[in-house]
Amino acid sequence: MTATASQRYLSTRGGSSGLSFEEVVLKGLANDGGLFIPEEIPSLPSDWRETWNTLEFSELAHRILSLYISLEEIPSDHLREILQRSYSTFREVNVTPLHTLDATQNLHLLELFHGPTFAFKDVALQFLGNLFEYFLVRRNDCKEGSQRHHLTVVGATSGDTGSAAIYGLRGKKDVSVFILHPAGRVSPIQEAQMTTVLDSNVHNLAVEGTFDDCQDMVKALFADEDINKTHKLGAVNSINWARILAQITYYFHAYFDLIRLPTFDPEKSKLRFVVPTGNFGDILAGYFAKRMGLPVDRLYIATNENDILDRFFQNGLYEKQTPNPTEPTIGLQIDGAKADPSGVRETLSPAMDILVSSNFERLLFMLSSLTKTSNKRQSDVDAAADVKKWQADLKSSGSFSVPDIVLTLAKETFSSGRVSDPETLATIKTFHSPPAATPGLEPYVLDPHSAVGIAVALRSMTEPDGQPPITHTISLATAHPAKFAGAVRLALQDVEGFDFDKDVLPTEFVGLEKKERRVRFVGAHEGLQGMRRIIREEVENEKVVENV
Ligand SMILES: *Cc1c(COP(=O)(O)O)cnc(C)c1O
Repeated sequence: MTATASQRYLSTRGGSSGLSFEEVVLKGLANDGGLFIPEEIPSLPSDWRETWNTLEFSELAHRILSLYISLEEIPSDHLREILQRSYSTFREVNVTPLHTLDATQNLHLLELFHGPTFAFKDVALQFLGNLFEYFLVRRNDCKEGSQRHHLTVVGATSGDTGSAAIYGLRGKKDVSVFILHPAGRVSPIQEAQMTTVLDSNVHNLAVEGTFDDCQDMVKALFADEDINKTHKLGAVNSINWARILAQITYYFHAYFDLIRLPTFDPEKSKLRFVVPTGNFGDILAGYFAKRMGLPVDRLYIATNENDILDRFFQNGLYEKQTPNPTEPTIGLQIDGAKADPSGVRETLSPAMDILVSSNFERLLFMLSSLTKTSNKRQSDVDAAADVKKWQADLKSSGSFSVPDIVLTLAKETFSSGRVSDPETLATIKTFHSPPAATPGLEPYVLDPHSAVGIAVALRSMTEPDGQPPITHTISLATAHPAKFAGAVRLALQDVEGFDFDKDVLPTEFVGLEKKERRVRFVGAHEGLQGMRRIIREEVENEKVVENV
């Protein structure tokens, strides 16, 4: 029983192939700078509709993930146990419930924010944390002291990734986690979420500078021979394949919830997903689900004013654009936001503020390979050559263009839409206080990211082939509104009787800001050398704490 092609992995830049799941999870990024994807997309068992239909979330995840992970690597009952543990931390038994927002329009929200940090990244990072621990503990069987493998996870965050990584990795054996955030530039709730975790293996570093400075520091550490000699560094950003993989489950789960609704007609109904998008990790999982055989008619990319993907879908040009720094932005009015003239625009949906989308490389590789006419292996080699050239162009000139045939293929599956901050605010307001003439609409408080998705969903529903009731539209709700208090308050400030603490704030957040914190300030003067020293010191201290 050897691994199938869908359980072996290659790099999108052609430098490696035949890698195991464990190798790609622990490595994160390929040596050639590419991203890992499976050599083939698995197809579903012929009876998947009947046999998967009623499975609970973690069991459904088990069926899907087993197609991508060889039993030789993780025995079936171990994988099941890891998944059960990962999703037992969610507040909803259903893990990712489907909520019908507008029954007359067949508009649904897939709520992905019922995990420990109230954002969709928990679905992947609760699993990734347990997976890291599983691999390390296995490698460390019967090993003692300095013989033990130890993983030092290092990541930069502007908010959501960092807290989800911390909650995924807290207390895990043989793993330390360092999360760098720009001091004073993350929202108070997110800062409190991260820094009130007191486990000895969690290290919050408040770095003097911007998010880009944090990210540059992380890149410098990964490239640094000195630290790599003593510490094995691990990555948790959305380039990690395990994160994409774990996210495939909720597309299937939502489908099964949908087809149980009386309004769904198995003969006639169509299905679209709308995904608020930044680094393209969430929606890429939807693309895998579709390629595996889930009947999805279209995937909608919803971007904010950082719209590189929306522009790409207009003409096939992928171009980094620095926003006009003199143009006022609403995002700057809220807590934690600071103008960052070098890079992205600060919007009301900060988790989608990106200049380029790292996971888009995976899609381009797969599409390019599909356009080739040779056998699969040769098509992949040629696609990797395309990707390498495009990435080199992006680096040297800030843009690249794909051939028409690739763009056409992309458009067969994807559409896109861009949503401005004023539209985001208007959408939050509309769904909180629906006009009286909309009988199917239930009042709902959207977070700004989910609102970007809903704004695009509403537009898509006016297209000839997207209209209700034939078409069901599922828009992904990626965060709880309480996480983005600034934007929600701004949207609803004029609404009579609205009370954020009463109407939005979950009990878990009450008093969070007053809890004990652990965070270390890192001055700009520290540089790479200082950061190395800090990491070594902190990991050393952990051992002392453990031995007390
Ligand atoms: C990370 C994040 C996104 C963007 O997801 P990608 O996978 O980067 O496209 C959207 N909304 C929220 C709340 C997030 O935390």
